[in-house]
Amino acid sequence: MPTPYFITTAIPYVNARPHLGFALEIVQTDAFARWRRLLGQDVRFLTGTDENSLKNVQAAEREGIPTRDLVERNAAEYYALRDSLNLSFDDFIRTSVEPRHLDGVRKLWAACNRRGDIYKRAYRGLYCIGCEQFYTEDELVDGLCPEHQARPEVVEEENYFFRLSRYGDRLLDLIESDQLRIVPHTRKNEVVSFVRRGLVDFSLSRSTARARGWGIPVPGDPDQVMYVWFDALGNYITALDYANEGEAYQRYWAHNPNRTHVIGKGIIRFHAVYWPAMLLSAGAPLPTTIFVHGYITVEGNKISKSLGNVIDPVDLAKHYGTDALRYYLLREIRSTDDGDFALDRFIRAYNAGLADQLGNLLNRVVSMIGRYYSGVVPAPGEPDPIDRDLTAAAIGLGDRIASAMDRFAPHDALAAIWDVIGAANKYVDDTEPWVLAKRRKAGDAAAEARLAAVLYNLIETLRLVACYCTPFIPAAAAGIAQQIGLPIDSHGDWAAWGRYPAGTSVHPGGVLFPKID
Ligand SMILES: [Zn+2]
Repeated sequence: MPTPYFITTAIPYVNARPHLGFALEIVQTDAFARWRRLLGQDVRFLTGTDENSLKNVQAAEREGIPTRDLVERNAAEYYALRDSLNLSFDDFIRTSVEPRHLDGVRKLWAACNRRGDIYKRAYRGLYCIGCEQFYTEDELVDGLCPEHQARPEVVEEENYFFRLSRYGDRLLDLIESDQLRIVPHTRKNEVVSFVRRGLVDFSLSRSTARARGWGIPVPGDPDQVMYVWFDALGNYITALDYANEGEAYQRYWAHNPNRTHVIGKGIIRFHAVYWPAMLLSAGAPLPTTIFVHGYITVEGNKISKSLGNVIDPVDLAKHYGTDALRYYLLREIRSTDDGDFALDRFIRAYNAGLADQLGNLLNRVVSMIGRYYSGVVPAPGEPDPIDRDLTAAAIGLGDRIASAMDRFAPHDALAAIWDVIGAANKYVDDTEPWVLAKRRKAGDAAAEARLAAVLYNLIETLRLVACYCTPFIPAAAAGIAQQIGLPIDSHGDWAAWGRYPAGTSVHPGGVLFPKID
């Protein structure tokens, strides 16, 4: 049975339509999921929407519509990313309506409660609704929330609390030993020093009145609803039928060595501290890996509605193509750092990487096979020293990608693929198949053998490039596969050199990536 691999995005608030920042996260996660599938693993890729936030209530109030309607409408927009970004998620959970979630978080609450980790007390604190989080005075910057530059409100009420203070030592041990692996290392260090400063219990509920009646009621106390982060974090297991500890929970959580969360750097405390502590309390296994990506700015500025620079990823994909957008997000943005979206850079990257290099290589190779061999791929001849650079690069590609993807670095994986594409274009220039074809015409048998070998090496390189491109630009990969006359194969030893069957016909198609002016 193939190894299970469970991977999730964070679930976004649905107070607005999806923006580029979430597109980055879900496209990265999709690439990780598709890569694992290519390796033959049994992948479960989960995403969904975080619907019980007060932000959603406020957004609905501004529009003058019921919260339920707003949540419904925006959740559908998030689901629709599946088509516009060509995503392969296996499951999508909505936290305000699905019984599996409501039952699951009630079970999670009860489990923490049984452990004695939930208690009630009066509380006064500074709360940022944007973050759905309490801040201490010294965490604020000039009295404002560091994420939202907004003044938090003073909240005073009786709440349930979670005994986070109990779990500091165990969390430190798990994180420092990489039993809970946090990638990249800088983020791990950040969490370790946060835990070392000492953990304080956090509020686990709010009054139903302050929540305007929106949220999941605390079991046995209808005057309180659960803290939205408690219920949202729970989605990672409630989606797997934690409520009944059913088959999916057993396979993808309880007995799975690969439980991976992909998150943005702003919510690391919730995922690397609160969530593991909740699971320790409930007696459930922890995630094994948390990958933290950076933020994306637009033309150098933080994405914000007030700046009016909210770029719609759906529009971008519609206008320039889904793979064009995926390529930019995965190649041009170093996954662990902050990155920037700029339209001129986007167009330059597209023209250089996709049109001039990949598209051009495909076009050259398929049309030469059409011209010199009537579209039927010849058998490979004897290898020549000049072939070595290309074949070695193509053969080593799998290991380079694997090492990059283990570090959650799709930009490095794509750089490796593009090294091979560059080597293949250079190989065409160096071997000059058109000269070989002329000499063949004049009856040169050695030229005939060389021409066959060169074109075979190129089509075989294209086959591997197509396979390795599937996690990143899946539609283009399928387009290449179509033109070289082979389906993408993820079974058997597809990664071995020389698997392209000679005698196969190519199917020249349209230009894969037309140049953008
Ligand atoms: Zn905030």
